[in-house]
Amino acid sequence: MKRKYWLETYGCQMNIAESNALELQLKGAGLTPAKNAEEAAVAILNTCTVRKSADNRIWGRLGYFGAIKKKRPLTLIVTGCMAERLKDDLKGDAPYVDFVIGTNDKQRIVDILASPNGTYDEKEEKYTFSESYYREGEFSSYVPIMNGCNNFCSYCIVPYVRGREISRDINDIIRELHYLDAKEVKEVTLLGQNVNSYHYEEDGKVITFPALLRRLCAEETKHIRWIRFDSPHPKNFTKELIEVIKREEKVAKHLHIPLQSGSSRILKAMNRKYTKEQFISLITTIRSAIPSVTFATDVMVGFPSESEEEYHETLEVLSFLQCSEAFMYYFNPREGTKAVELEDQIDEETKSRRLSELIDFQLEIFQSVRRARIGDILEVLVSQRTRDDVNRMLGKSEHNEMVAFTSDAPIGSFVTVRLTGLKGNTLQGEVV
Ligand code: SF4
Repeated sequence: MKRKYWLETYGCQMNIAESNALELQLKGAGLTPAKNAEEAAVAILNTCTVRKSADNRIWGRLGYFGAIKKKRPLTLIVTGCMAERLKDDLKGDAPYVDFVIGTNDKQRIVDILASPNGTYDEKEEKYTFSESYYREGEFSSYVPIMNGCNNFCSYCIVPYVRGREISRDINDIIRELHYLDAKEVKEVTLLGQNVNSYHYEEDGKVITFPALLRRLCAEETKHIRWIRFDSPHPKNFTKELIEVIKREEKVAKHLHIPLQSGSSRILKAMNRKYTKEQFISLITTIRSAIPSVTFATDVMVGFPSESEEEYHETLEVLSFLQCSEAFMYYFNPREGTKAVELEDQIDEETKSRRLSELIDFQLEIFQSVRRARIGDILEVLVSQRTRDDVNRMLGKSEHNEMVAFTSDAPIGSFVTVRLTGLKGNTLQGEVV
């Protein structure tokens, strides 16, 4: 009988993409997915360590798998950023874990499972990209183009667990684009921790991120309609990049640009390498070049020493940004980063209060941004059925808005809808 695997993924889009690639390899090696963790012969946890809450959840799951191992044989593998950060300490605290595999070695999991005695040479290798990150049957796909980060924002563990930036061979990216097109994928998202610092040398020439985008858009594809990218760094958002986004029809006019803080002093303490004024100027430049553009952002409150005034500056910038999506969180000290050692840590009560005010503030912006769209006609990619009505479908627009509408159009097709209203946070539409 074929061995069954159970794969759990935590954290960011990159981890999801890498798990997709790992599943392709596991299936290629003859393993099959288990219906649940109980029937698996191999359990793999692809972990995150950006926040303590992620660590805690994973420790809970490790306890669960440890209990299973007391009753029957199970190969337990922990990989990803938490594995990279803790390495041998993880083995010490959870001796029932069979293999702790760092971020550079994920590709070798299949080798371990294929080898008769599960041997594993633990020497660290350079990060390598997989051939494909496609998940069978999906119409949207991630395409990692770079890994790692050189920025060392003072609160972030990523450069320590993912290492320095490395860019994927442009020819492999183009090959994957065509592979996805052959699978009838409709939208691709180019991924990287600092995606717009893509830098690949070919025949002595440097290919930058705008050049890569231009090359991908020039490729003839039958199905791919939208090319997105995530996450760019504001400091690498050049005029050339704005020009490419403006000119290339395939590049979605919805941009995720992390703000983090609206205070220049806090941005400096975060080592973000831009000021509030530079961020505002970037958004103004993009808006005047691409009037239809919409924004998503990341924002953090409660960074050490953040005053009430500085927190209000963040709200002011958000009011200016009028983004339609935002990932909001409060500062969570991460051992191993510089921000842990900063003085004037903000107490939990203040951090929670600022975050909850921020969320209320931003919810009103979301509502007004969405209400302003009512009456517009737009194309949506049919993504799934709504939970409460089998005749209603959910579709995603170029601007990443979810729209509910009545239709029998198949998932994966495009439909034109007129926006008719707003129910909760979901736009309602009718097919035109
Ligand atoms: S840019 Fe900053 S926040 Fe983003 S991955 Fe790099 S260090 Fe972390």
